[in-house]
Amino acid sequence: MAQKRKIKPKKKYIGAHVSISGGIWKAVESSVAIGGHAFALFLGSQRCWTRPALDTAAAVKFQEACAQHGFDPIHILPHGSYLMNCGSPKEDVFSKSQNMLVDELSRCSALGLSQFNFHPGASIDSTPEKCMEKIAQAINHAHQQTPAVITVLENMSGQGSTIGGQFSELRSIIDSVRDKTRVGVCLDTCHAFAAGYDISPPGGVKNILDEFDRVVGLHYLRAIHLNDSKGQLGCHLDRHEDIGCGQIGITAFREIVNEPRLDNIPLILETPGRPGFEYAEQIELLYSLCEKKKKN
Ligand SMILES: [Zn+2]
Ligand SMILES: [Zn+2]
Repeated sequence: MAQKRKIKPKKKYIGAHVSISGGIWKAVESSVAIGGHAFALFLGSQRCWTRPALDTAAAVKFQEACAQHGFDPIHILPHGSYLMNCGSPKEDVFSKSQNMLVDELSRCSALGLSQFNFHPGASIDSTPEKCMEKIAQAINHAHQQTPAVITVLENMSGQGSTIGGQFSELRSIIDSVRDKTRVGVCLDTCHAFAAGYDISPPGGVKNILDEFDRVVGLHYLRAIHLNDSKGQLGCHLDRHEDIGCGQIGITAFREIVNEPRLDNIPLILETPGRPGFEYAEQIELLYSLCEKKKKN
């Protein structure tokens, strides 16, 4: 049952990655029920390369639910299938991934959504340079095939041969994307920390955002994934932990929810949750960390 959401501080859009089981519009209801003002969702099964066509009635229902509960498309960030590897050196995997990216962007359009987040890819037995070129090639292809949805690259933990652990790699991909108005970045706090960006000490968030601005450009930042990390700084493991319960700790999350450069973008939880500290409680905690503006 949807509950009434509490008044939120202006400009901070905190929410979580919610399920679409039972129908894609259920994601909207789930978000409302946990007190979310933003949300992420998958656009279909994570197990199949080909998916049944999006049901038009379901798409309409989704858009109606978003309008009813006041979700602006810029605060909704669909997450791509984990099957995709747009940087794969294997021709068949690359081709299937490229097609899937087109399909995902088309679904976003049909749902009235304006941006789409995905993991850039992995080089496997190829080189990072070739991998980044392929990723940009897949993005350029998808941009040609679909209307104006923005492709949002997620930073990675640098596990195995995955690309996007370093900000410079995201920059390289963006450099090869022709339509720069249709590319952006989502920063995952767990991935950044695992990749070696220390956001845990006081001022850590500010420093990393400064570095992101220097290397990539803050105008490309479209979203944040709010996750604590089970693994230590620089461990390269992609292991999410509940807010304040991991190696990053609460200081960084307090800084994030009070950082003006992160106003008006979706701040999305992808944490495992534990009894009594599920998404609803973590969203409530994060909103409680927002400081009231001092009058001067
Ligand atoms: Zn992700
Ligand atoms: Zn993430």
